Amino acid sequence: MEKRTRVRFAPSPTGPLHIGGLRTALFNYLFAKGKGGDFILRIEDTDQNRYVPGAEEYIVESLEWLGIPFDEGPGTPSEYGPYRQSERLALYAEFAEKLIASGWAYYAFDRPESLDKHRAAHEANGKTFIYNWHNREKLNNSIRFSSETVAKRIAAGEPYVIRFKCPVNETIELNDLIRGQIRIDSNTLDDKVLFKSDGMPTYHLANIVDDHLMQISHVIRGEEWLPSLALHKLLYQAFGWEAPQFAHLPLIMKPVGKGKLSKRDGEKLGFPVFPLSWKDSLGYREEGYFPETVLNFLALLGWNPGTEQELFSKEELIAAFDLQRVNKSGARFDPEKNNWYNHQYLQKKSVAELLPAYKKLLHTHRVDTTLFTEAFLAKVVGMVRERASFVKELWQLSHYFFTAPKKYDEKAVKKQWKPETADRMEGVKQVLVSVQDFNSASIESEIKEHISSSGLSFGQIMAPLRLAVVGALQGPHLFDIIELIGKEQTLQRIDSAIEQLKL
Ligand code: GLU
Repeated sequence: MEKRTRVRFAPSPTGPLHIGGLRTALFNYLFAKGKGGDFILRIEDTDQNRYVPGAEEYIVESLEWLGIPFDEGPGTPSEYGPYRQSERLALYAEFAEKLIASGWAYYAFDRPESLDKHRAAHEANGKTFIYNWHNREKLNNSIRFSSETVAKRIAAGEPYVIRFKCPVNETIELNDLIRGQIRIDSNTLDDKVLFKSDGMPTYHLANIVDDHLMQISHVIRGEEWLPSLALHKLLYQAFGWEAPQFAHLPLIMKPVGKGKLSKRDGEKLGFPVFPLSWKDSLGYREEGYFPETVLNFLALLGWNPGTEQELFSKEELIAAFDLQRVNKSGARFDPEKNNWYNHQYLQKKSVAELLPAYKKLLHTHRVDTTLFTEAFLAKVVGMVRERASFVKELWQLSHYFFTAPKKYDEKAVKKQWKPETADRMEGVKQVLVSVQDFNSASIESEIKEHISSSGLSFGQIMAPLRLAVVGALQGPHLFDIIELIGKEQTLQRIDSAIEQLKL
């Protein structure tokens, strides 16, 4: 029987989740769901010095907002929990001891000061100090001493760490689902600390133990963890456990220039690098991006469907996603394209879906929405949304439905408002007054008839009329606007334009 697909997203709660971290979570989610498997959230919080309060909640909220909830994680009942490493501490010591017993690890008593000295001495000669096969027999560890001596020192309370004993002269064969075969010479690796003197496991030990105990089938994570893969593979070998399959995702690169996307790039170019805002950093949610937008652009950062399709729903992504189509090389972040996605999703939403956010927006601009019917607001949104990429842009596109123009676009006035315009607008007023059924189509036919019978050009009437009603030469079909704001309001606006634009 094929093993059940179980993947995990394993962030350390050291701050807000970067958009790249969210992409890792998404790829895990899509992969698991495409295979009918489980998506697990594990909080890797063994490094107490780097722990940031609120970070775990931030991670959970980000996953919820994006619509990729975990099946197992903090707070969910399951046989594999708990899912915070800080709640699993008792486990790790036992596994570290197992490696000592089997000869795959050793106690090291070297004090930090002594290691610092070695480092400094190496640096002075232009070298790097590596604790491994070539010097471990000369350093202060249990490889050199009898087991009685070691036991005595530990019993006396001497602090120690547990280091992995990396094998000598071996070629480690690694297989990455994205990168293929990789070979590493074991002599280049250092004897990594697995267990620290403060009684805490390091990332490497806790991560492998948990992946094994939680029966993780695939480890999908960022490229920055590729250098740890050889050690992880050796740890599985040392424990005698079957290793999961690995896939290392490409880096997310800056929009321009070289290097990976950083918080600074966002600050410089004015786009968020976090899903939700955090302290004074912008978040996609707060900046008005839809979760569908973020889901869509993240999915295409490093993965391609092999077709021209750009817009994907979550379900379509689950069906199409495939690790074989994840690139090895870095994926360029494209804030412009992200805005394009938002435009697409705004157009796809129903007016009813947009209304609550639109009303909120109107409130922030001090519009008393109780003065307008839902049908009126819905019509406005329907008429102007075409040009908007964000809900917040709807104000700029629709304010004149709520407040009469106070200023008029100067350039347009210069070009379109002539000495004879006031009289012409008086003429338009008379036509409007007499329109019985005040709807867009009848207004249009009456005005058009008036234009042709008066021998004027369409522009000579329409441009100043639009200026009077909207304040600028922008907006949807003018007769639709006029119908919506109503006869009285239109006549008033024409009057104030005549008054204010007197030459
Ligand atoms: N805790 C690691 C991180 O913060 C997890 C890396 C992994 O997925 O193995 O990214």
